[in-house]
Amino acid sequence: KKRNPGESEFHQAVFEVAASVIPYIQDNPRYRDAAILQRMTEPDRTIVFRVVWEDDDGNIRVNRGYRVQFNNAIGPYKGGLRFHPSVNLSILKFLGFEQTFKNSLTTLPMGAGKGGADFNPKGKSDREVMRFCQSFMTELWTHIGADVDIPAGDIGVGAREISYMFGQYKRLAKEFTGVLTGKALEFGGSLIRTEATGYGNAFFMQEMLAHRGEGMKDKTCVVSGSGNVAIYCAEKIRQLGGKVVTLSDSSGFIHDPNGIDESKLEWVKDLKVKRRGRISEYAEMFGCEFHEGKPWGVPCDLAFPCATQNELCTEGVSQLIANGCMAVSEGANMPTTVEAIDMLAEAGVMYGPGKAANAGGVAVSGLEMTQNSIRLAWTAEELESRLEQIMVGIHRQCVQYGQEGDHVNYVKGANIAGFLKVADAMLAYGVI
Ligand code: NDP
Repeated sequence: KKRNPGESEFHQAVFEVAASVIPYIQDNPRYRDAAILQRMTEPDRTIVFRVVWEDDDGNIRVNRGYRVQFNNAIGPYKGGLRFHPSVNLSILKFLGFEQTFKNSLTTLPMGAGKGGADFNPKGKSDREVMRFCQSFMTELWTHIGADVDIPAGDIGVGAREISYMFGQYKRLAKEFTGVLTGKALEFGGSLIRTEATGYGNAFFMQEMLAHRGEGMKDKTCVVSGSGNVAIYCAEKIRQLGGKVVTLSDSSGFIHDPNGIDESKLEWVKDLKVKRRGRISEYAEMFGCEFHEGKPWGVPCDLAFPCATQNELCTEGVSQLIANGCMAVSEGANMPTTVEAIDMLAEAGVMYGPGKAANAGGVAVSGLEMTQNSIRLAWTAEELESRLEQIMVGIHRQCVQYGQEGDHVNYVKGANIAGFLKVADAMLAYGVI
């Protein structure tokens, strides 16, 4: 904390990992003696830069851009870019640190990074977003490359922003390589990438349930968020037989007791992706309730936090437990606070941490890199089947390192399994 003052989100992420990894390295002193965990908490480097752009009224605007290259022990840096006014170094370091473990769990050769800017795309015109993205990439491009660092999307960075940034990279570098993932299909994107994080989260929940002899069929599910992760998590839950009754955004949540079916979800995709509207419009459209706040008080069997960090606190977990919720699987990164995670464990609620449960997105990004390298495109069926197998594999690793009697500690399992591959590579490189 002394070395990284004021970085509360970063402290929270390191604390959570250290709580499971430190007891493990006490029993395996070669990691302790080589100070591997201390080395893993320090990013390889952090790049901070000015982004200047002009809005539609001719005003000059200044934002701050970042890329945190966290760890490339097992592959080139890989992780998303977030455009949101809350972006700061603490948030990007927590995300980059988590990414180290997540990418390792996928079994694909990817190191970890994260970046973004304190730019708010909300309310900006397409041309303003384009000018911002071009200015952002004009600085970033010298630091990235298909074998160096491959950014992707995250909050506020979807297909539109990736396209503007890829166009600018291509222009500056004078090369066409797979330097960003989440690209459109016409220029090297992968099928299933848009769906991957949400689908993967639903697959992970399915695995946790199956491990207890349960299934998704007829389970009532609460999903938060209404962005990329939430929408496709809801879609796959439905396909697996569950009923999704909520979606949310930063203004509040809708509660549709009849369930959000396929045609309603198509309407939400149009609302959020094309029209960039608010989820409250769903309540007007389909005649259900809209409330301010978070959806955790809605009775459910399963909960899927898919919006942002620290959105599920002790109050929300008390409501979930009181209503008999049996499992939580995180689509977002670190949506559950440390105290709330402890409450879930005490109540015996299964809990899939984001670094395991939402790894499907980066996994399919890894498969996008593979397809770019071999200059071939796989079919949606092939990719979805690979995604499902990767999620099954991540669940298996969590069980291998997290089984405690008849219960699986998924936090411990994910942290230790993710740690080991990176730690062994770092040990092999010697003191660097
Ligand atoms: P989007 O920008 O598509 O959607 C984000 C959603 O979360 C929106 O509904 C947004 O509402 C809501 N939200 C954002 N900030 C807040 C806040 N402070 N309070 C309440 N609601 C908020 O992002 P994604 O769906 O891509 O990402 C969601 C989460 O999943 C993030 O934690 C991200 O890091 C994580 N993730 C994403 C991956 C991906 O492939 N996209 C991969 C792995 C993890 P509003 O529109 O009102 O802001």
